[in-house]
Amino acid sequence: MSSSEIPRLLRFRAGDKVADIDPRATPGFDGDKSDGAERQSERSTRLAELQELLYANHRARDDHRSVLLVLQGMDAAGKGGIVKHVVGAVNPMGVRYTAFGKPTEEELAHHYLWRIRKALPPAGHIGVFDRSHYEDVLVVRVHDLVPPEEWEPRYDEINAFERELVDGGMTLVKVAMFISLDEQKEQLLERLDDPTKHWKYNSGDVDERRLWPKYQEVYQAMLDRTSTDFAPWHVVPSDRRWYSRLAITELLIEALKRLDLSWPPADFDIETERRRLMES
Ligand code: AMP
Ligand code: MG
Repeated sequence: MSSSEIPRLLRFRAGDKVADIDPRATPGFDGDKSDGAERQSERSTRLAELQELLYANHRARDDHRSVLLVLQGMDAAGKGGIVKHVVGAVNPMGVRYTAFGKPTEEELAHHYLWRIRKALPPAGHIGVFDRSHYEDVLVVRVHDLVPPEEWEPRYDEINAFERELVDGGMTLVKVAMFISLDEQKEQLLERLDDPTKHWKYNSGDVDERRLWPKYQEVYQAMLDRTSTDFAPWHVVPSDRRWYSRLAITELLIEALKRLDLSWPPADFDIETERRRLMES
């Protein structure tokens, strides 16, 4: 069953409305959960191979390119599951993972992009941002953490920042994961019911649920103002976790394929080396 059409279908287009997103939809995949799992295992293998190519080209050819996966979504949207199941399928040697929580005192004393710049993936790596600089136009707006004069210029500033990253050889894969309010409740209930998930439970998440409409509004503004041709957003329906995992796997595969990577050739004479080895 094919799933390679997913990236094209999920790309945010000007005029798309957050209110119209169906979080239970599975665009570009007409199978069910078990078909999804089967496809996932094939595509994870492909992703791992492409990631190894990226790493190999950096090591052997000094290729400076990298990929940055930016994950945004409400609590329990499944960001952690993407890290565990999608990113977890590739060699950790080539991954740089960073979660962005509430800024520390030190971080607050700096420009909001300071901590972001420090976490960018090195050449040849896949960076993973579990939340990102976008929190500075999301939670920050919902909770009025800074005045409008301060957050308003951030959209343009973020676009300029991302332009700079792209010009430097980074491919950004920006993913907004959308779950329904009902599914979030289910997920949070599961965290309450399962002692192995209590560590993930945060009673503040329940308060945030009341702010859902405000979050929808700031997510819309984020998509409208920061989905550029050089760093477009993808909107991933995430009520069905098997689908969001497959979708984000496809997005990473597509980004890596566009780098047009090949295995670095030997910079030694293979026959000579074989002979030397046999004689050793
Ligand atoms: P979690 O991802 O569940 O560990 O939660 C991290 C928390 O940090 C979330 O509630 C985010 O909204 C919050 N957070 C992340 N970045 C910022 C930021 N720049 N300003 C304020 N809160 C933030
Ligand atoms: Mg949380």
